[in-house]
Amino acid sequence: MITTRAAVLNEIGAPLELTDIRVDDPEPHEVRVSVSYAGLCHSDLHYMTGTVPTDVPVVVGHEVAGVVESVGSAVTSLRPGDRVTGALTPSCGGCVNCDAGRSTQCLRLDDVRRRQRSAFESVDGRPIDRLAAIGAFSQHILLRERALVRLPDDVPLHVGCLLSCCIVTGVGAVFRGAQVRPGSTVAVVGCGGVGSAIIQGARLAGASA
Ligand SMILES: [Zn+2]
Ligand SMILES: [Zn+2]
Repeated sequence: MITTRAAVLNEIGAPLELTDIRVDDPEPHEVRVSVSYAGLCHSDLHYMTGTVPTDVPVVVGHEVAGVVESVGSAVTSLRPGDRVTGALTPSCGGCVNCDAGRSTQCLRLDDVRRRQRSAFESVDGRPIDRLAAIGAFSQHILLRERALVRLPDDVPLHVGCLLSCCIVTGVGAVFRGAQVRPGSTVAVVGCGGVGSAIIQGARLAGASA
């Protein structure tokens, strides 16, 4: 267990409180990541303002990139020093949906996210929840090996961070939701982070200019 700093939501609608928390040691399939960058997604604000219900205390934040610090005993694909980005929706890699390429609809998501102990706790031992089992607004996080992707050397961490939610949400909407085909015409209403990713995704899909 280590002590780190995190922005904790103790009360819905109240400001985040920057405070020390404890982070558990990695379970066999987990990786502890030293967080370099965390994005602020509108979904985080929904939890902070109570539009979407959440238990408190909780560490929100789900868009994240950083450097692997330590790995659990069963981790084989990552090692300390690897630069990684987190996946918003982890998957088991072995159920029928994962096998069919629909890993965002993994049937074992609850099992994948379950831990024996709380990943985060206060310095006096009270459990602290994590948004999406991530809790990116912490200087250290725990994620399963299969919820992390190693970044190529030429992708800076602050860019790779956006792959956690913003980019995959926009590009996924183009290829999966709207199923844009070459020559399609695409209208994007609202060009924030996700909208900009939709524009880039539409270009990748061959939409006409
Ligand atoms: Zn998001
Ligand atoms: Zn699965």
